[in-house]
Parts: sequence; C-alpha cells; structure tokens
Amino acid sequence: MIYTIDMLIDKIEESEKSYDIDKIKAAYALADEAHRGVLRSSGDPYISHPVAVAYILLDKFCMDTDTICAALLHDVVEDTDIGLDVIQKKFGEDVARLVDGVTKIGQVPLNTREEQHAENIRKILIAMSKDIRVIIIKLADRLHNMRTLESRPPEKQRKTSLETMNFYAPIAHRLGISDVKEEMEDIALRYLDPYGFKEIESQLDLHKDERNSFIDKIKAMISERISDIQPPPIIEGRVKSIYSIYKKVYVKGKDFSEIYDIYAVRVILQTVVECYNVLGIIHDMFRPIPYRFKDYIAMPKPNRYQSLHTTVIGREGIPFEVQIRTQEMHNTAQYGVAAHWKYKAGIQGSVAGEKRFDWIRQILEQQQEADDVEQISEAIKVDLAPDDVYVFTPKGDVITLPAGSNVIDFAYAIHTEVGNKMTGAKVGGRMVSFDHTLNTGDIVEILTSGSENYGPNRNWGEIAKTNEAKAKIRSWFKRERREENIECGKSALDREMRRNGIADDEDLLLEIAHRQRIETIDDLYAAIGYGGVQLTKIITRLKEEQARQQKQNAALPIDVEKTIADNNKRAQKNGVILDGIDDCAVKYAQCCNPLPGDDIIGFVTRGYGVSIHKTDCPNVAIGLSGENKDRWIKAHWAVNSSSAFRATIDIIAEDRTALIADVTTAIASNRIPIHEINAHFLKNGNANIIVTVEVSGIEQLKNIIQRLQKVPGVISAERTGKQ
Ligand code: MN
Repeated sequence: MIYTIDMLIDKIEESEKSYDIDKIKAAYALADEAHRGVLRSSGDPYISHPVAVAYILLDKFCMDTDTICAALLHDVVEDTDIGLDVIQKKFGEDVARLVDGVTKIGQVPLNTREEQHAENIRKILIAMSKDIRVIIIKLADRLHNMRTLESRPPEKQRKTSLETMNFYAPIAHRLGISDVKEEMEDIALRYLDPYGFKEIESQLDLHKDERNSFIDKIKAMISERISDIQPPPIIEGRVKSIYSIYKKVYVKGKDFSEIYDIYAVRVILQTVVECYNVLGIIHDMFRPIPYRFKDYIAMPKPNRYQSLHTTVIGREGIPFEVQIRTQEMHNTAQYGVAAHWKYKAGIQGSVAGEKRFDWIRQILEQQQEADDVEQISEAIKVDLAPDDVYVFTPKGDVITLPAGSNVIDFAYAIHTEVGNKMTGAKVGGRMVSFDHTLNTGDIVEILTSGSENYGPNRNWGEIAKTNEAKAKIRSWFKRERREENIECGKSALDREMRRNGIADDEDLLLEIAHRQRIETIDDLYAAIGYGGVQLTKIITRLKEEQARQQKQNAALPIDVEKTIADNNKRAQKNGVILDGIDDCAVKYAQCCNPLPGDDIIGFVTRGYGVSIHKTDCPNVAIGLSGENKDRWIKAHWAVNSSSAFRATIDIIAEDRTALIADVTTAIASNRIPIHEINAHFLKNGNANIIVTVEVSGIEQLKNIIQRLQKVPGVISAERTGKQ
C-alpha cells in the first residue's frame, strides 16, 4: 500500500486533536522536492516512505504536529542536500532537533550478537534520543521498513530483521508499545526463520474456525456473567502473536499443544475494584491453573504495564489466558509512552514532556527486564551511569569513556599501540583535532602511522583526560625517548633551579633522586622529562635540603651526606665486572633492576658510566638492534659481592587487620632491611603492597618471596622490574 499526503490529511481532519495542517503540508512539500526522482527498492516513490511513517505516528499514536513534520523530513538530511539549518529556519528548533536526533541514531552501527553488548547499544540509542519522540519516530520508521522488507535483497532482509529483533523490538517493549513490538517481531521472524514461522502459522491456520468459535464462546460466557457492570466492559479475544508462540515452542521447547496462552481474552473495565471482582468471577467460572496468576496491578512491570493475568481451563479442556485491566491500564499496555499523546491532549513540545518522562529514561536504562519492584529499583541503582560517554569504533564496537574524554583517550582505550601511532582522528568521517571532546554516539576512526619511529606528541599527556591514556603516554616517553627525556628534564630542572636560586649541587641532586628510588641523576632527568616525577616536588625538596644543609654545615666540619653518597657509589661499583673496562662508574638500570645472580649486560652511556641491565630486559632487545648497538658490553657479577641491592616486590593480598604487620615481620625475620613500603586498596577489596627491600642477591630475594607467599591471605608476591 502506498501512503499519500491526501491520506495523511484525511486522517488529520478526522482527528479530534488540533493540528497545524499548513505546517505539515509545507514539511511534505520540502520532503517531496528533496526526494524527487528517487525510488525505493519496491519501485514506489521515496516520498511514500516518510509519508507512511508520519501516517503510522498519526494513526497509531496521535503524535503532535512537530513529530509529524519531523517524520516527513526524517530522511532529508541524511539522503539529500538539504541541511538541518534549512529545516530549522522553516520549521523551528523543535522539528530540527527531532530530525537531527533521528538522523544520528540512524547512524549508530548495530551489529552484535552479544546480549550484554546489545544492551549497551540500546542504552546509547536511548541516551542519544534525548527527546522521547525521536525514538518513537525511529520505531515508526523501522516498522514501515519492516512492512516493506519484501522488496529488498535477501541479505538486507536478514540484517534488518536481526537489528529489529535485537534492538528495536526490545526498545518498543521497554517503552510498553506492545503493538509495535509484536508486529516487528512477527515480521522479523518471518525472515530469520521462515520455516519456523510458517510452521506456527499453519498450525494456527489449521483449525482457524474452531479457534474463532472457541474464543467467541468464551467471550459470550464471560459477557453474560458480568452483564450487570455499567458501563458494559469491553471483552476482546485473540490468538497471541506468532513470535510469542514461537518462543515457547522453539526456545522453551514446549509442544504446541502445551502452550497455555495461545488464546488470550481481555476484559477492560473502569475501576481497579471491578478488575479484582471480575477475577473472582472468572475463577468461579473456569478452573484456574495453579501458579499462573499474576498481579501486575499491585506490582506493575518496569514498563508500567498493569493488568491481572490468570490462565484457566475452559469446559473443553482448552486452557486460555485472561487479562483484566482498566481502560487506562489498557491504553498504557497498547501504546506505552506514546499513550501520552494519544490520550492526554494539550501537551505540546518536549519541555513539558521532558520532565514527565524521567521515569522512561530510568526504565530504558535498566539492564534487565525486571519482574518485580525490588528488582527494578536495584537495577536502576546499579545501572545509571550518566557520567560516561559511549562512542563507537568504525567496526561498531562500543568504547565507554568518562564524560569529557577526547580523541587521545579513545585511541589509548582501543590499544596502547593505536594511541602511540596515532597521526590523526576522524569523528563522523571528519578530521578533528586531538583535543576534540567526544559525545555519545560518535563514530571515531583513528589514523595511525606505520613508521616504527613514530610516537605520541609530548603535550598529549596534558590533553588526555583519562589516567589510562596519561599513564600510557608517560610510559612511552619513559621507554622510547630516554636521551630526549634526559635533555628535556635537565633543561627544565636547570631552568627551575636558576629561577629558585638553588645552587648546582650534583651530590644533593643524587640524594634527592635516591629518595625517589631513582638511582642516577640521568634517571632523574629522564623521569622529569617523561613526567614520572613532578618537577615542583623536586624543587621543593632541593630548597628544603639546601636550607637544612646550610644549617648543618655551619655546625659540622665534615660533610656527612657527601661521605655517605661516596660510599654508596663505591659499593655499587664493586659488584660488577665489565669486560675491557676497569674503573668505571656503574649504575643499575631502573627498567629491570638487575640483582646478583641475574644474567646482565652493560650499556656505555654518554657521560654517566655504564648502566647494567638484565639480559632479558626489553630495553636490551631494543637497544641491541638500534644504532647504539656497539655500546653494549659484556658484564657479570663479581663473586662474593657484599653489596646490597634493592629489589621491589609487588604483593596482592586479601585485606585483613595486621596484614602489613605480618608482611613486614616476614621480611624483618630474614634480617632484610626494608627500604620503602607502600600499600593501597584495590577496587576488588584486595590490598596491594609494594615493598622495596635490600638484598644481597637473587637467592635471598627468592627466599623472601617464598616466605611472603606463605603469609596468610597473600594471593601473589612477585618481584617487579618497575620502580
Ligand atoms: Mn526512513
């Protein structure tokens, strides 16, 4: 059937509500011109589709003038040259916003088989259609596309049907629009399982006349028993939707004959008291099946559905379901949220509507369909996450980010390498800057470089909003740009020191570095360079330290601090023997913290001696293949080394009282000095303890780790390469 503007106008004139016919005609004229010459795959002129959508909205839901206009224009922005600005100028802000909303949710990629994921996408669709009318237009749009699916190619039929089944029918259900939900499901089923569909259809057809006379007889019997109720109740009877029967037969594995509610009889009354009275009468007339009675009047479904349900057995032994409800409940059951336009006149626009529909958003955002009130409130509590934005990869995967996140956060959320190699980004197909803030529903494409040497910009760390991205950017600079970090950190520190009038004192700087668990001045520069250490913190320490030293120097003739630092240097140097080099400063690389017993290798740095790495350190692998590969030299541990080495142990344990005390006791009982200990709680309730100890070598470290693993509650204890 082709819908025409004349049919639409006739329908409007029949309506009891008042419409701005001129505005609707103008919207039609614009859409007609925009789509002119374009045909649908059925061969019908394209304009027949928006007209049909408008007709459905008018006929089924009595939607308002702006919604009808937006329906007529809903494909104009997407498919033609006419922009949103034109629509706004001609039809106002409201219509433009509705069209924009429908266009945007139409662009959300819908492809998933995972239920959890599908639920997220349904949430996104809802979140994006800020005005509930947007989603109602979209449902009408989809309904008409389903009705005309026949003329489309088979793979398109399947894809559209799957989308409808996974996304649109559940949304219609949540909105309580059972009418649209059932029609969508039945059409979708026809394409998704043609055989199953036909089978049920033919079963239902088989004894159609018998069925109809059965329903008629039941209706007549009930009608007679309650004939004294005034005004007379409405009694309806029907065979349930094919899909609802299909689900019972194919999903729940029931036999066709076992399905109790193929038949449903509905009694519609004026008051709630009448409903309960009629329930009593029905149970008196027919034998109720135990446990099949449900009181959705006292406990409405999450989508506000209210009704009494009972299944009874008729004289012929055929079971049927009876639904008893008031007229108002019936309106809500049929049209859900849209009942608002159909039955409550006079409310125009979204501003008045918006507040009333707060509950809708809550329902829609619920994770699961809950059957009782307790579950509902629980679901709402857990599920509202208004501070997040949901954005899509071009493949349709959903990435959840905190509100305010930008392209950089997105790239790093996908994969560290995607972030590190990002050269640019497109949102909705358009190039954007790195600081572009993302909105729910954006489709974001990250462009990456294939070059091995490419890396993030230094300022990304400041632009990024998420800690995850910041940390990943920092760690890239830490790893990949050591020389650059040193240079960058040194010049920043020098500048700040000059500015604060702090004298150049290498020993003091080293002392400060050690307190940060940083071994060398170079490492300190590097840490400042990549942002691992805050420059202001170092400057504050330096100031304090210098003030203290000045005071001490006045009292002590010997520089105690300097003596200690010198001793440390000597002790360290003696631990390692380097091939071909005799007297040379040695430091232990922070990235892997080698310990006596580890296989090691040395790297001759520019100006700061030799840095010792474990041979299996990732930086060694990178370094050996790089341009400085000649600077790596063989190294091994001196026998009988008495030097102390620092090692960091990362402990995960169930949190309990005295946990830290037990951990420290375990270490102390081995006479191992604890250099530093940090503990914090993890989100899952466990505790994470990071302890730095001084050990003589790998054997001692292994011992202490074994001991720690035996401490009650400890889940894991591992040596970590990180400082
Ligand atoms: Mn459309």
